[in-house]
Formats: sequence, C-alpha cells, structure tokens
Amino acid sequence: MTFVDVLIIGAGSAGLAAAASLRAAGKTTLVLEASARAGGRARTSRPDFLGGAWLDEGAAWLHMAEQNPLVDLAQARDVPLREAFGNPSRMFLGGREGSPADHAAYEAAESAWFARVFAHPKTPDLPLAEAIGPFRHENPFAPTIEAWEASLIEASDAKVLSLTDFCLNQLDGTNMMAPQGLGQLLLDMLTDSAGEIRLNCPATRIDWDGPRTRVETPQGVIEAGAVIVTVSVGVLAAGQIAFTPALPAPTAQAIADLPMGLLSKIVLRAAAGDRLGMTGPTQLFRCVEKLGDPFISFIAWPRDTDHVIGFCGGQTAWDLAGDPRAAFAFAREVWRDMLGSDADRIFAEGGITTDWATDPHHLGAYTYSRPGATTARATLAEPLAGGRLIFAGEACRTDGMAGTVGGAILDGRRAAAIILGSERNTDHR
Ligand SMILES: Cc1cc2nc3c(=O)[nH]c(=O)nc-3n(C[C@H](O)[C@H](O)[C@H](O)COP(=O)(O)OP(=O)(O)OC[C@H]3O[C@@H](n4cnc5c(N)ncnc54)[C@H](O)[C@@H]3O)c2cc1C
Repeated sequence: MTFVDVLIIGAGSAGLAAAASLRAAGKTTLVLEASARAGGRARTSRPDFLGGAWLDEGAAWLHMAEQNPLVDLAQARDVPLREAFGNPSRMFLGGREGSPADHAAYEAAESAWFARVFAHPKTPDLPLAEAIGPFRHENPFAPTIEAWEASLIEASDAKVLSLTDFCLNQLDGTNMMAPQGLGQLLLDMLTDSAGEIRLNCPATRIDWDGPRTRVETPQGVIEAGAVIVTVSVGVLAAGQIAFTPALPAPTAQAIADLPMGLLSKIVLRAAAGDRLGMTGPTQLFRCVEKLGDPFISFIAWPRDTDHVIGFCGGQTAWDLAGDPRAAFAFAREVWRDMLGSDADRIFAEGGITTDWATDPHHLGAYTYSRPGATTARATLAEPLAGGRLIFAGEACRTDGMAGTVGGAILDGRRAAAIILGSERNTDHR
C-alpha cells in the first residue's frame, strides 16, 4: 500500500499546479491520471494530417494574461508569448461578403446586445436569453451574436446559461498565445515540478470516512492524508468515481448545476497550399439567420500553416459530436457558401475533429452554470472532511476565470494552500 501526504486525481492544469505547490512546500505527492498523457483539456498534438504542424485540440489562448499564472510562469522562463486576435475578420451574410457598413452595423448590434445583458438585473438570476429581451428577435445580427458569445465562447446555448455566470466569466483583458502551443507550454512549465504522475491509472473509488483517505485504482489502493480531485464535472456527474460515504447533498447538487458545455474544433487542410489569396491568418464567419441555426467560425492559415480551424459550440457541437464526416461536410458547406466552389476544392479529403464530448476522461469542454445556480462553483470548491477532500479545477473558479487553464491553475494552487493551511492544526498521518 502506497502512502502520500496528498494524492491528486487528474494531471490537467489544476492537478499539475496543486502538485507543484505542495511539493515546493515539502509534501509528498502522487498524481493519478486516467489517460495516457498529462495536460487534460490542454492538449497540443502534431497530427500526421497536418504534416507535423501542431494543433491545440483543447485550450489555445492564455486568457486574461494580466492575471494568468501560466503567463507568469512562461515569462519567468523567457518564453516569447505573442498577443492573439490581431487577425482581419471577414463576415459573410446572405450569400455575399459583408461591406464596411455591415461590419459597423454588426459592431453596433454587439454593443447593444452586451449593454442589455450587463444592464439587466441579476437577482433573481435567469437564462441569458431572457435578458436580451425583444432585441433577440428583432435585430438581424442578434442570432449570430448569441451563437458566438454563448454557444461558441461559453460552449452552451443562451437559453440554458445563467446570466450571472455569463457576466462574471467574460474574460476581459489580453489574450496571449504560446509558440509551442498552450498544451505543450503547460507541460513545459509544470510537469518537472509536479513530481510523480502515474498515467493510465484512474481513481475509481474514494473512501473519505477515516483519518486517512483511501483511493482505489486498478493498480491498487493508495492512502493519503488528503486528496484533491481535479477531474471534470462531466466525469463526476457520470459517476466514474464512487465516493464512500456519498458526497454531501450540496456538493452533489453543485455538480448537477454545473454541466459541461461543448466546444469543438473542425480542422481542414488545403491540399496544394492554395490559401485563396489570403496573405496571413484570417478570421471568417457566416452569419446565421435564425436563433439556433448551426454556427461555425474559422481561423484560416494560423501561424502561416495550410490548415483552417473551425470552432463550433453548444447544440451545433453536440449535434456533430462523434460524427466526423458530418462535421467535415458542415465545415466545407460553409466555406462553399462563403467563398464559392473553389473554396471547397482546395481542401484535402478528411480532416480532424476534436472528441471532447465522447472522450470518457472529460465528457465535454468546460462547465457552465444553470440559471439560478449562482453559488454552485463556490459550493463545489468548499473543502470537505476538514480539508482532506477538496475538489479543484476550472469549474470551481469564482473569480471570473472559470472554464480556463489559468483559472484551473489558480484553483489547483488554492486547494494546495488549503491543505497546507489546515495542516498547521492537524496531523494527517
Ligand atoms: C475545445 C476547448 C477549447 C478551450 N479553449 C480554451 C482556451 O483557449 N483558453 C483557456 O484558458 N481554456 C480553454 N479551454 C478550457 C481549458 O482547457 C480547461 O478549463 C482546463 O484545461 C481545465 O483544467 P482542469 O485541470 O480543471 O481539468 P482537466 O484538464 O480536465 O484535468 C483533469 C484530468 O483528470 C483526468 N481524469 C479524468 N478522470 C480521471 C480519473 N477517474 N482518475 C484520474 N484522472 C482522471 C483527465 O484525463 C484529465 O487529465 C478549452 C477547452 C476545450 C475543450
């Protein structure tokens, strides 16, 4: 039987950060990871299909750079981060490319949309869609703005999303990108300091009744003074880890009130390097006509590569999940509609779609809060058993960084600090 001071379940951003903090304070730790790799939802791959170019399948942007701990870690090691989102944006509507006047009208609609959202009373909390009022149906750009701001960025649709949580997690500030991809940056910055990570070793049961917490895995039982659980709420809701005794009702309710949204990436590659006359990275999107119409936005030729990345979220993403052929067909249909049949002809057969919905170790992209569940994140973050069982990760952030890598890192550190603080009074051994 192995014993460690602190057992950390999940080697994503929160788990790696928690382990690094605890080890820096002299604690023995072990990180259990169910999959074959560390990093969790920050995953940089080098798919053959892209000829070796890297792809961030999950997180890509270092949001809120001014508060983002991964930016601090990168800057301390002189990693040359660059600012994201400087690309020209091309909008298409009604079978044509938008004019400068259309862009101006879109921006005005966006400002009016956000003004309604922020001005709406937050008590009682309500679905984001309701706060938009008649504007939602009257403005021709409102369906696109809603698809973009809710379904894509928040990964869930405005009718099911808490207004309060939406406003809190607006990710203001600068967005940065890493030269090696965000997933790789996370590993470069945190795996050395996180100590032992046991891959392919899922936690299946946590017995948190006694003075020592017992965690069952297919490779045996591990005992720990304290356990930090950083798996996604999707994994918790699916019951992949049994808890003995059962979790308290408020914790269980918080898990139910923080469902996983879905953001998917659909990647196509230009077979002969034809970039349709675009000289650098370009953002393209086609406006939707009706609320709930499938929406996708693209970044073409990122980092001077030959591929385009489509982003779709919410119901559009759930509808395409597990069906790559339908995803590629949808992406190509939108390109045809935007730029004509040449745009379709340039792409190689196939493509890449991310699989966060069906990946059993995540079961979604990141959490959103149900309307009315404004305390769910704080409730989930509350330590149990005097700090011997703590949930941590993106879902637990209440500082406006929920759903991000930066937020997850801060939350891993929060969990570590609780354990280190509570140890002043308690001997866990
Ligand atoms: C498509 C997509 C795009 C995104 N874009 C951005 C972005 O641009 N910027 C940004 O900041 N964030 C982005 N995010 C969100 C960000 O990736 C997450 O918020 C963050 O990575 C979550 O970290 P975490 O440590 O909380 O959880 P995770 O990264 O999910 O870590 C949990 C770990 O637990 C493991 N695990 C699961 N079950 C078990 C078990 N039973 N036992 C042991 N281990 C287990 C998992 O395999 C995983 O490695 C994006 C996410 C997705 C999916």
